This record gives sequence, C-alpha cells and structure tokens, in this order.
Amino acid sequence: MTADLYEPPVRELLRVGAGRPVDLSAIDPRSTPGLPALSVTGPDRKSWARAEVRRIGDELAEQQEMLHAQAVAGDAAGRRMLLVLQAMDCGGKGGAVKRVAGAMNPLGLQIRAFGPPTEEELGHHFLWRIRRALPGAGQVGVFDRSHYEDVLVVRVESLVPEETWRARYDEINEFEAGLADEGFVLIKVFLHISYGEQRERLLSRLTDPTKHWKYHPGDVDARTKWPDYQAAYTEALSRCATDAAPWFVVPADRKWYRDWALAHLLREHFADLELSYPPARFDLRKEHARLLAGDGLKVNGG
Ligand code: ATP
Repeated sequence: MTADLYEPPVRELLRVGAGRPVDLSAIDPRSTPGLPALSVTGPDRKSWARAEVRRIGDELAEQQEMLHAQAVAGDAAGRRMLLVLQAMDCGGKGGAVKRVAGAMNPLGLQIRAFGPPTEEELGHHFLWRIRRALPGAGQVGVFDRSHYEDVLVVRVESLVPEETWRARYDEINEFEAGLADEGFVLIKVFLHISYGEQRERLLSRLTDPTKHWKYHPGDVDARTKWPDYQAAYTEALSRCATDAAPWFVVPADRKWYRDWALAHLLREHFADLELSYPPARFDLRKEHARLLAGDGLKVNGG
C-alpha cells in the first residue's frame, strides 16, 4: 500500500448488521461517512474525490495482480474476492463498476450481471446460477445484482410463496460461510439512494436521448413499491450480515462519494490479505546466465 489506511477504517463506518439493527431511514443517502475534512468545497471536493479514486484505482490494480500472481504460484488458500453490488434502480451499480472495478486489469476481473432468471435457471435451485458465476482463485468477481434478488424482487413481487423466500436467508448465510471457508473475501455493498434522487436519475434518462436505452417503464412500477423494497432490503441486510460476509451501506446520492467509499472498501479488504508478489520458483542466477549466454542461434540478426 502506498498510503496509510484511514482511521477509523471506512468499512467500520459503513458496516451494518451483525448484532446491530439495520435502519436504512437513519442513513442519509447524501452523507459522506469517513470523508476527511477538506480545505476545498463544492466542485473542488468532487474533483478531489475523483482524483483519489484514480489513485486508489492504481493500487487496486496492483493488488489484484498480486492476488492473481499468488494463485498462479499455487496459493493453497484459494483466495479471491467477490464484490456483491445491490441497489434500487438507478442506484449507480454501473457507474461504480466502471469507475472503481474498471481500474483493475480486465483479465483478472469477472463481472456478472443478474437479470430475471432464464427458463433453465428457474428449473434449478436459486443458487445454481450464482455458483456457476463465481470467480476463480486469484480473481476479483463483481456481481451486479445477485442471489439477494431472490429475497428482494422475488419477495416484493410475490414470485414464490413466503415460506420459500423466508427460508433463503439461512440458505444464503450457509452458502456464503462456505465460500469464506474456500478462500473468498466477500464484500456486499448496498448503494443507498434516496427516493428523490431516483426520480432525478429516471427523469434524466427520459430527457437525455443518449440515456433512453437505460430507461425501463417497469422501473416506475417498482418505484411505487419503494417502501416494500426498503423493508425487503432492511431484512436482507439484517439477516445476512455476518462476520464471514458483512454488508456495507454506501450512501450513494453523491456519485463521487459512492466511488470514493467503494474504492476504500476494496482497498481495506485487500490490505487484510497482506499480498506480495510470489518469489521466483527457479534459480534466478542460472536463468540469467542462460539467457545472456544465448543458445547460438542467429535469429533476425538478434
Ligand atoms: P440499472 O439499475 O442500471 O437500471 P438493472 O440492474 O436494472 O440496470 P436490468 O437488466 O434492466 O438491469 O434489470 C435486471 C432486472 O432483473 C431487475 O429488475 C431485477 O429485479 C431482475 N432480477 C434479477 N434477479 C432476479 C430474480 N432472481 N428474480 C426475478 N427478477 C430478477
């Protein structure tokens, strides 16, 4: 790491559940927990945060490369990272992936978005498609929506009986605990936007022709069920925030804070891994000498 981590860590400020009741209405989506006191304000604050995200992005890229290098070298722990992103429509999952995860090498990233299940997926257990999308050892996986939809939209839209979705909290906890045992670092993030901010973002999708493709009339139907979704999120966060797989709530009305906080969350979790580049598994001096001595071939005058 090139700079000290914040104290208290950003993740401590954003973590919810694990014994503490989750109250989303008490978390202001425009707040900026952990942001250091700055001498700049307004647009300068935003530029500062954007520059920080770029700087931390370089660190994340290096950390991800070390994670991959350790896996190539045979890391017995099978370490990998999985970032689960959930949000109401227009919550900014796409922007967060682009700006924060996008700083890492695409070769080491596995990004997967989950829409409504296909016919085939519906024929299986709800975790089936999730298991198939998990990142391999040494990779950073990003889920844009996830198995949590099966206790969110599925609950609000009554897509299965209540006893079925209620049983899923325990199933999810068991599943995630198993992943943690296998070497997964799980970071589950709810991007928390306000009802008013969603309205603004939906409106901008309507007024800007370059955003029409992002507008789904169904999003307005879901918006009418806002309180139901907030209740579903509250219960999912409360029931499934565990030490093995914690939940973080990132206030997301301010996009620059959202990205800043997410970058710090990833950075702090990488720091736990104490990654380094693996040592050479060959005799360095011998290989050096071999290379310099050449093999007697003359290829293109080299
Ligand atoms: P944006 O947030 O940028 O608008 P999006 O994440 O909404 O993009 P879409 O492909 O438009 O992307 O939406 C995915 C849809 O799939 C959401 O409405 C979500 O509720 C739904 N979905 C995801 N998982 C499930 C599931 N298990 N059962 C039913 N619907 C699901």
